[in-house]
Formats: sequence, structure tokens, C-alpha cells
Amino acid sequence: MIPSILPTYNRAPLHFERGEGCWLVERDGRRFLDLGAGIAVNVLGHANPVLVDALTDQARALWHVSNLYEIDRQAALADRLVALTFADTCFFTNSGTEACELAVKMARRYWHAKGEPGRTKIIAFDGAFHGRSSAAIAAAGSEKMTAGFGPLLPGFVHLPFGDHEALAEAIKDPEVGAVLTEPIQGEGGIRALSDACLKGLRDLCDQTGVLLILDEVQCGMGRTGRLFAHEWSGIAPDIMMIAKGIGGGFPLGAVLATEEAALPMTAGTHGSTYGGNPLGCAVALAVLDVVADPAFLDAVNRKAGVLSQALGGLVDAHPGVFEDVRGTGLMLGLKCRVPGHDVVRAGYEEQLLVVPAAENVIRLLPALNISDAEIAEAVARLDAAATRIEQAAG
Ligand code: PLP
Repeated sequence: MIPSILPTYNRAPLHFERGEGCWLVERDGRRFLDLGAGIAVNVLGHANPVLVDALTDQARALWHVSNLYEIDRQAALADRLVALTFADTCFFTNSGTEACELAVKMARRYWHAKGEPGRTKIIAFDGAFHGRSSAAIAAAGSEKMTAGFGPLLPGFVHLPFGDHEALAEAIKDPEVGAVLTEPIQGEGGIRALSDACLKGLRDLCDQTGVLLILDEVQCGMGRTGRLFAHEWSGIAPDIMMIAKGIGGGFPLGAVLATEEAALPMTAGTHGSTYGGNPLGCAVALAVLDVVADPAFLDAVNRKAGVLSQALGGLVDAHPGVFEDVRGTGLMLGLKCRVPGHDVVRAGYEEQLLVVPAAENVIRLLPALNISDAEIAEAVARLDAAATRIEQAAG
């Protein structure tokens, strides 16, 4: 019999009842050190008092009015994001997937308004993940995500991730209107585009007029030690999708765009009942107050150095389990020589949560305010998990 929850997830038999910072408490009382942060979401940890206050203060005043009216918190959040980034304007969504939908619509509408409605093709990359809507799975294009869901939204062209030559060739197609990529693939196995590659991509877009859409849903909001990952390379996109960390655990996403890219999105062209509601925006303003502070980002970079160096030590200590360390900031991956899921499960035994990804990689995406002591504890638990796997293999 089908369970009452549609079984699209293989869930671990863990029932968390409470969270405190980087810790989750199971209903049986066990305390788990959380290096997944709800898949890169809880950037300031669980039950952060500042975010709890922001949410509860707003909840006492006003939850929801819809976008039929002005929402002051939403305007304040948009102003803040515009001030902090390349963008001139924002639209708020409830998730990364919805941000992807709008990014695709905006790119197509841009060319339509320019009198070139044939420029509907969007170049995307193997290993990408942009969400689970019809547009997002078509953008990712993998058999795993698309099988049985056709006919897919047409117009996506898929290239090998990071293949500059292939891109330089494909972008010449006069029907191409946009390129969509994650600066660092998350679900794809913590695969990063180099700064040179991102610069080359921006140059190709500039030469052809093609719009650059960056998906920073997972790698944005301080995760890599800059507010947004693309900042490391010095380039800026035309359109950017964000979600996850911006709400600190409250469902919120956004599309940020330049005025030029966004101008054709006039009244009536897009909407959302809940997107940018007062609750989400109040929390996001509180998240930004902390995460956009340069001193906070410096601390992320320092902690990232400590963690990635310790992970390198684990690779040396367990060469049969781990192959290498990858990633930037606190978006780190350990490529495994054993099935990544075995490492995730061994982590559960050690009361440590890590997140699987493609390419046999396990992801470490802790809260950005994780302490040095918690980093040391996480490494000790990963070490114990690896030893457990070695012992089981004899
Ligand atoms: N884009 C990227 C890079 C993601 O990692 C995700 C989710 O994991 C999404 C888009 C989809 O976001 P959501 O699950 O909030 O719809």
C-alpha cells in the first residue's frame, strides 16, 4: 500500500524533534552533529535566537497579505539585496525551483521584447541541478530526473560542465538566448567552475549578447566565504537564482536581475501568492544582517581553511575510504572510494549528518557559524565513521 507521504524520498529512520545551532536532537535523545544544515539551508544553525525573534515578532504583527499590496519588509529586503549585489531588481519566490522557472521565463521574455523571439535556447550543463519543476528538470536534462516526465520543456542544450570549447561553439547558434549554470554544482558532486572558466563564460556571453543566468541556490549566501560564489571570479551574471540560505530555514527564494534583463517583466507577466511574504522577508533581513557582514565572511573563510585541511588529513588517514577533498568555503565535498551512501550511514552511527551527492561525493555544508570545536568534533566523528567502514570491510 502506498504510504500516506508520497514515497519520492528514501528517508533515514531519524526523527529530529529539536535543533540547537549545529546540533539536532533525535526523539530518543541522541544528539547529532549536523553538517548538512537541511541541505545548505540553516546558514545560522537551528533555532538561532536572532532568527526566532525576527520570525516571532513578525508573526505577531502580520503573516500574509499577498502581493496585491505593498509589503514593507519585502521592499526593505529587495533594497538590501540590490545594494549588496550586481542586481537592480528582485522577485521573491518560495523555493529555488520557482526561481528557476522565473529565470527561464525572464530570459525568453527578454529576447521576445528585443524583437528576437527565436532566441529561446538555453545552454545548460551535465550534472546540473536546478529543481524539480518541468522547466528545471528539462534544464538539468539527466535521464534520472526526466525519465517518464516528457514531453519536456523544449529549448535546452546540454554541454559537458566546464567545457569552454564546446560552449564557444554552441553559443554561436543564433537561437541561443541564455546560459544557465551553477558556479559550483552541489547535487552534481561539489564540482566548481574555475574563476578563469567563469570569466571565459562571461566573455562569451558579452561577445554574443547571450544572458548569463547563475544558479546560486546552494552556493550563495555566504557559503563559499563571499556573499555570492561568483564574486570570487570578479564577474557578475545578468540574472541570478537564490534560495536556501537566504531564509535561514524559512522557505524563500529570489531572482535577482539587472534592469536590462528584467525590464520586459511588466505587471501581469509573473506572480506568486506567497513569494516575499512578511514572515520570510523578516527572517531574510535578519539572516543578511549577519551573513553580509565582511567579518562574518572572513570567519567563514578561516573556518573553511581549518575544515578542508582536516579533511585532507582524513583522506591521508583513510585512503581506502576517501579519495580527495573538493569545494570552496563551507561547501566542501569528500570524494569516496566506497559508496557515498555507506559513509553517510556510517556517519549516522557516529551521530554525524552529512549529505550525499553525485560522483560518490559526500557533502559537508554546515551552518556558517559552526564553531572550531564543532569542526574538530565533526572531523573526529568522520574519522570514526571511516574506521567503522574499514573494519566492516575487514
Ligand atoms: N538549484 C540548486 C543549485 C539547488 O541545489 C536546488 C536544490 O537543491 C535547487 C535549485 C532547487 O531548490 P528548491 O529545492 O528550493 O526548489
